[in-house]
Amino acid sequence: MLRRRLNPPADYFPDDSWAVKATEFLPEYLPQAETAFALANGYLGMRGSLDEDYPTHEPGTYLNGFYETRPIVYGEQAYGFPKVGQSMLNCPDGKIIRLYVDDEPFDVDRAELLRFRRKLDLKDGVYQRDVIWLTPSGTRIRLRTTRLVSFAHRHLAAIYYQLLAEDGDVEFVIVSELVNRQPLPVETTDPRLGEGFVGRVLHPTGTEARDLRAILSFRTGGSELGLGCGMDHVLRTDCSHSTELDCTDDRASLVIRARGARGKPLRLSKYLSYHYGSDVDGHVMRVQTAWTLDRAVADGFAAIHAQQRAYVQAFWQRADIEIEGGRYPRKQQTLRWNLFQLLQASARAEGHGIGARGLTGQTYEGHYFWDTEIYVVPFLIYTHPRMARSVLKFRYDQLDKARDRARELGHRGATFPWRTINGHEASAYYAAGTAQYHINADIMYALRKYVEVTGDVDFLHRFGAEMLIETARLWLSLGNFVARDDDRFCINGVTGPDEYTAVVNNNYFTNLMARENLRYAAETMLALRREQPQVFETVVRRTGFAEQEADDWEMAAAQMYLPYDEELRVHSQDDSFFEKAVWDFDNTPEDNYPLLLHYHPLNLYRHQVLKQADTILAMFLLDHQFSPEDMKRNFDYYDPLTTHDSSLSVCIQSIVANEIGYQEKAREYFDFAITMDLRDVGGNMMNGAHVASIGGSWMAVVYGFAGMRDHHGVLSFRPRIPDDWRRLRFRLTVRGSLLEVDVRPDLTSYALREGDGITVFHQGTELRLTPETPSVEQPTRPRRAQT
Ligand code: BGC
Repeated sequence: MLRRRLNPPADYFPDDSWAVKATEFLPEYLPQAETAFALANGYLGMRGSLDEDYPTHEPGTYLNGFYETRPIVYGEQAYGFPKVGQSMLNCPDGKIIRLYVDDEPFDVDRAELLRFRRKLDLKDGVYQRDVIWLTPSGTRIRLRTTRLVSFAHRHLAAIYYQLLAEDGDVEFVIVSELVNRQPLPVETTDPRLGEGFVGRVLHPTGTEARDLRAILSFRTGGSELGLGCGMDHVLRTDCSHSTELDCTDDRASLVIRARGARGKPLRLSKYLSYHYGSDVDGHVMRVQTAWTLDRAVADGFAAIHAQQRAYVQAFWQRADIEIEGGRYPRKQQTLRWNLFQLLQASARAEGHGIGARGLTGQTYEGHYFWDTEIYVVPFLIYTHPRMARSVLKFRYDQLDKARDRARELGHRGATFPWRTINGHEASAYYAAGTAQYHINADIMYALRKYVEVTGDVDFLHRFGAEMLIETARLWLSLGNFVARDDDRFCINGVTGPDEYTAVVNNNYFTNLMARENLRYAAETMLALRREQPQVFETVVRRTGFAEQEADDWEMAAAQMYLPYDEELRVHSQDDSFFEKAVWDFDNTPEDNYPLLLHYHPLNLYRHQVLKQADTILAMFLLDHQFSPEDMKRNFDYYDPLTTHDSSLSVCIQSIVANEIGYQEKAREYFDFAITMDLRDVGGNMMNGAHVASIGGSWMAVVYGFAGMRDHHGVLSFRPRIPDDWRRLRFRLTVRGSLLEVDVRPDLTSYALREGDGITVFHQGTELRLTPETPSVEQPTRPRRAQT
């Protein structure tokens, strides 16, 4: 239940279904706007700060996987606590272009603005600003910027800066910079923001400067990574001008002085390149940075922009969702911004994970959580399967570290980190960190969905099977058969998804997901032995798998203890959940949400109060194991106890509400989920986009309103759009075919847009789409009508 007061509807951005734009400069929304206008390609990310770099909130530039380590300081140490923290770094900022006209600085805060428009163009994948400044001496200066972070070239960002004195002759000074800022101490009591660094983090290793180009290189001390970053420029103007390049270890600047004759434009293309790697001396990094700049200068801004447009268009071909009708008027804009954030977080993440805020902010220190596998991988599977594979392969690449961690914790197999960048556990609070063992089963759940939907059994054979064996071993060593519980398999001392309940016995979600993990591991190994003896042998060689193990896993799965309260007829979130008092919601002031900022964790732990969906999430993920009545009883019990203080919650609650016929609730939660950022529902949009919630919003459409299920890779739909929606249309990529689903109140059509063919089920009826019969229409028949 939503007990929290929503922030006042912060409609900073006027409606436009293909853009998020602001038409005036509102300093109070500057921090939020930096997130709204952030650009990223999954590898390189830049917040939407102003060109002039002032005023600013957090003008970050981030590289996925580029981080520094720091000691984690505990008041009291204990065995197995991670000692080394990891934080994504803020890289040198190359977005900066300052402007002076007749020696007066252009400062958005103080300037007389005849126009100030900004927009994130969701069709082109660029950020644009259009300004008319009436200078103190009365000249109108038109200033237009287009900024992009290239999807086609993951190391490249580009800015096109156009300047025109509309009605006078002036002196322009343009200062284009690339600046390594020293970190400022983070002063916060919000645990989500992380600690930050004190003192120098990036140590200079060299510079190169010539003509209009400057390249800086750095190294980190702890993580031993080298960074190269550079800027180059192409200037086109008929105005007489001079340039001067200055480059020191931490700052490069190009100063352009120009006599701005009335009506004569000045056009500056600025190219930025970022590379990092193991070369800590800097030479290789600078060379690679130069290659990217060479190519960008040769291509030119127009070509780079055209490539961006083509890439983004192809994305919308696969991933757009259209909703017509409904009460919330800006659904289309909000949805598209959300989907675009998923693209920005993942598109070129190759070889890395996906951070909780993508590359739009440093919250949670840029760490990868279970958010990726449970909330984002489904979207990737159906829109960009290669990237779903890539993030799963990233986990495989960290398997040895997970094996080491399991040994350290006294387990067998592998224990994946709750939060990490480099594969080592970086969570400093074990109760809501290491104890969340469910992440292991979550990764295996995502693996199964990926393999079943895409048919990529090669991935399962080469990488998946090994992860399955090691995670199954973990569960077997973590749990035990408890004699006084009829020899049932119990998993004690864990934390489930709900972080307001910690270190409990038999978290229902964990046990259920572990059971799936164990079964999938056993099934896979038995099938391999039968059908793929060579692959089986390789996996055995790598893991020392013994056949008895599969029997043990099956036995543990069969005997898995799943807490249930006979009286309530509800699954207990854990063994002791129902023994606790219900949180006093009536006497909790609205301003005390999120509770984590106002109550000691112990206070939360000893009450029935949820931060986020837990048992209900299990019921969505494994919904074929539950009857609708069972789901309804559980939803009725847990929903009033759920605060949704985590952004990972409402999207799930919306899906299950849909499943049990609570359509109004489903819609309310959905509106809440999709507006999480653009209407700043959680009050922390300024710190970055909530990527998991966004992935969950996609699920709320596809699994919720379209009622899709994909158990064993078989696609079935039971659409149930709200009465006032006129249409819901989206596309899914399945085994090389592109399927379009178009739901209207009376009819639903399925169309094969690309590929050889696909079979789907609609309200239980099998439909085969082929190039010869590419589309089929069926009565939508809302769920209510068929029961
Ligand atoms: C949630 C976790 C989530 C993390 C990162 C926390 O607030 O409780 O489930 O993984 O945020 O998004």
